[in-house]
Amino acid sequence: MEIAMVCTRVSLLILILSLCSPYKFIQSPMDFGPLNLLPTTTTASSDFGRILFQSPSAVLKPQSSRDISLLLGFLSGSSLSKVTVAARGAGHSIHGQAQALDGIVVEMCSLPSEIEFYKGGEGEISYADVSGGVMWIELLEQSLKLGLAPRSWTDYLYLTVGGTLSNAGISGQTFKHGPQISNVLQLEVITGRGEIVACSPSKDADLFNAVLGGLGQFGIITRARILLQEAPQKVKWVRAFYDDFGTFTKDQELLVSMPDLVDYVEGFIVLNEQSLHSSSVAFPANVDFSPDFGTKSSPKIYYCIEFAVHDYQHKNTNVEQVVEVISRQMSHMVSQLYSVEVSYFDFLNRVRMEEMSLRSLGMWEVHHPWLNMFVPKAGISSFRDLLMDNISPDNFDGLILIYPLLRDKWDTNTSVVLPNSGSMDRVMYVVGILRSANPDDGCSHHCLQELLRRHRHIADTAGARIGAKQYLAHHPTPSGWHQHFGRRWEQFAERKTRFDPLLILGPGQGIFPRSNNAAYGS
Ligand code: FAD
Repeated sequence: MEIAMVCTRVSLLILILSLCSPYKFIQSPMDFGPLNLLPTTTTASSDFGRILFQSPSAVLKPQSSRDISLLLGFLSGSSLSKVTVAARGAGHSIHGQAQALDGIVVEMCSLPSEIEFYKGGEGEISYADVSGGVMWIELLEQSLKLGLAPRSWTDYLYLTVGGTLSNAGISGQTFKHGPQISNVLQLEVITGRGEIVACSPSKDADLFNAVLGGLGQFGIITRARILLQEAPQKVKWVRAFYDDFGTFTKDQELLVSMPDLVDYVEGFIVLNEQSLHSSSVAFPANVDFSPDFGTKSSPKIYYCIEFAVHDYQHKNTNVEQVVEVISRQMSHMVSQLYSVEVSYFDFLNRVRMEEMSLRSLGMWEVHHPWLNMFVPKAGISSFRDLLMDNISPDNFDGLILIYPLLRDKWDTNTSVVLPNSGSMDRVMYVVGILRSANPDDGCSHHCLQELLRRHRHIADTAGARIGAKQYLAHHPTPSGWHQHFGRRWEQFAERKTRFDPLLILGPGQGIFPRSNNAAYGS
């Protein structure tokens, strides 16, 4: 044991020297004692965005939390080293957030995929203990076997638990249960100092809160305890169309005010034929709606609300009746309400069906210049106008999601940044501009740069004018990050000093660039 530790330390020293050397010599798998450190791969330097490709010098495929602790413990103990480390979940970031230029990428999916359940009795909670590299789809598949499921989701499930908890994790259930970070009971985290810490709201709460929505800056999540609830067997899934933005948002706000009846609320802008039939693979209703989209100079756009009601077969709830009660209060376009009943699994896994369809058309592995923003309720109309001034509906490829969230479902002690709540509105919105740019369809370098420039303009203008904040944020400069955090910057930076003083973690976010051997704040 002792000998193994000494070997590991010596090997790590060689590693650090090799990474700091101008002549990188990691070309083949290296024996770093028990650490499975490998030469870089193309996967480690790419992500879903396909915009940035930063190559690390090595990849760690950890077999246990201890492997990560050894690596970080050694790097944080050596002021010699400038080596940075990024945890990589499923790599579904847009702007290289899980990349580490010339550093080490820790591939979280190499951790043994452990999922353990505790099923509470009547009146007790149920939960699952899962490794940080487990994907939500795996947790769903396993938990359904026990009739259970997490309460809060993302739209797409091929994302890791550690990856979404480092951001927030939102979807149509967020209005009811809060984001995924509001549904975690406990974490195991390896800090930037290499310490393995079990933390929760009552133990090492500051680390717990820092890591949730912490953009991978304070520690690597190796385990999480996720709250579960009874899973419905089926879901009644409804879509209703609107031709007026004010009516659309008013109805969305009505729906989120009825959490006893409604289980999911989202919505999207119908810009063109393609968005009208968005995710029609998963939503197999016969949509008999042929709107007039106007002309290029005078486009007409529409809106679609999606809501869902869970169907628990043993409860004998009449979901048809529940939908009827809800929809009677809505003001959608006449006859433009469609519904389908699908299994709970298919409902949650709906984006995977779209993925398979897009893959078969060669349209999945393209550039994704996405922009997500949290918008205060008071500014949602101006945000819509800003958006429409900066996109052309006739050639927009992708989806624009808009749906309301409720502030009081978010814990403001976590690291997540929301718009200031000056007006005390309980409602805020999330808007996701989920755009594809296909080089084979004429959108290569120049076109992509132009789309990114426009998104930056939207983000900057909406930030300055209406106090909107980016979700899954990307800021090219540290000063952009200072502005993003606003008055929360000091707390974020202080937590960094405490949990990752040598600025080793999360270099791809660009929040704390590592300058010459300085610890943050020194
Ligand atoms: P990665 O991209 O691998 O990592 C993201 C960040 O987290 C990086 O900074 C990384 O260093 C850090 N990180 C990763 N693992 C850990 C860990 N174990 N511990 C500490 N830090 C870690 N998001 C939503 O909220 N709602 C949605 O509905 C939604 N839908 C999406 C649909 C698609 C098709 C895609 C591509 C993305 C979607 N996202 C959504 C965004 C997604 O939640 C984030 O991009 C998330 O980071 C992806 O998880 P990942 O496992 O791929 O993380």
